[in-house]
Amino acid sequence: METTLEKRDLLCENVSVYAGRLCFAGQDTVLLAEKYGTPLYLMDEDRIRERCRTYSAALREAFGGRAHAAYASKAASFKEIYRITADEGMFVDVVSCGEIYTADAAGFPLERALFHSNNKTDRDVAYAMERGVGYFVVDNEEELFAIDREAAARGVRQKVLLRLTPGIDPHTFAAVTTGKVDSKFGSAIETGQAAEITKTALSLKGIELVGYHCHIGSQVFDPEVYLRAADVMLTFIAQMRDETGFVAEVLDLGGGFAVRYLESDPEVDIAGNIRKIAEFIKKVCADLALPVPEIILEPGRSIVADAGMTLYTVGTVKTIPEFVKYVSVDGGMTDNVRYAMYKSPYTLFAANKMDEEHSVPCSVVGRCCESGDIIQEKVPLPATIKRGDVVACLATGAYNYSMASNYNRVPRPPIVMLKGGESRIAVRRETPEDVASLDV
Ligand SMILES: *Cc1c(COP(=O)(O)O)cnc(C)c1O
Repeated sequence: METTLEKRDLLCENVSVYAGRLCFAGQDTVLLAEKYGTPLYLMDEDRIRERCRTYSAALREAFGGRAHAAYASKAASFKEIYRITADEGMFVDVVSCGEIYTADAAGFPLERALFHSNNKTDRDVAYAMERGVGYFVVDNEEELFAIDREAAARGVRQKVLLRLTPGIDPHTFAAVTTGKVDSKFGSAIETGQAAEITKTALSLKGIELVGYHCHIGSQVFDPEVYLRAADVMLTFIAQMRDETGFVAEVLDLGGGFAVRYLESDPEVDIAGNIRKIAEFIKKVCADLALPVPEIILEPGRSIVADAGMTLYTVGTVKTIPEFVKYVSVDGGMTDNVRYAMYKSPYTLFAANKMDEEHSVPCSVVGRCCESGDIIQEKVPLPATIKRGDVVACLATGAYNYSMASNYNRVPRPPIVMLKGGESRIAVRRETPEDVASLDV
């Protein structure tokens, strides 16, 4: 049978077809499924490094040495990813003691870490300072006082960025929008709270205010949104200079660059967008007579999403007359909760049947006791799909493993890294014993 798939249908250049098999990072996925078992997370190390370099090079070109890309590690957090991003000279975002511990244990230099979260407990603050986290991104005043107390107790001054909400709605999915005034994150510029927290920060001995942060949302395709955010933030920086004499040295514009989950999604030109953002920032700074601050971007998804793929083995296939086929796989919402949570789209293929036409609409469902345990609805798969086939879900590198759970006491899949024709385990498969290991 002729293959109906063209190269462009395969979403990303690290995906290909050879001898009827789906290949990822140049390796046969069916053989990988046999070798490591399923469900299985695969990660393409070269793709991760390439994306890090795209950001770093574009920022270097646009701003000289005065800009950094910080990998938002909540997208995928495990030791090997911190080793790779450290090796690429990235900064890193961390949001919990667990992420700080993992980064530290992997040898990530924590002076290049930014500590986020809208509710850092006193213990979090102490732990992060103990480990030497470089920057705290402060969400609110209460937190500022907690950091000041801890810094005073240690006789240090902690570098701090203030997280502000610039009042921008990027028109993406509500649950991933964070830059509006009505948000649990940050201090709003519009309400005067941003000015207030700036003045408070400047008055505290344990706080070294270095600048501002904003994050407008996720899966943002339109670079225009970053220009609007930069405009609001720089105008505020100029306002603070005029009111207090404080000139921000650092401006962190957050993450959110979109990735392609479907063939119909547009390509995002990361380097081109960074050039646009940089030109705009330089122009606005000139207009406001501000020195161009050190710029930080915080990509998460766009570093790891299409570096990931999940493989499943098909179990039960159920045809309900006049309705779609239900294809049950050996994973589900425990390894990929994004459809259940956000109705996120994904591209799926029958990895061992790439020569067959993918034309029968199927709902690919997991094995949890939950009707909403769905990987994707109405995706085309071959008519012959049956028990034992391998189904691949593409672009699962972001927010899949990091959101994985043990619901129904399902053990989590391993992560296998692919590089130069070799494969190696970065996170081993969980066992039922692991799942019960904390029970007393
Ligand atoms: C989630 C998050 C990011 C990364 O967002 P992506 O959409 O994965 O690029 C960056 N910064 C902050 C503060 C975040 O919360």
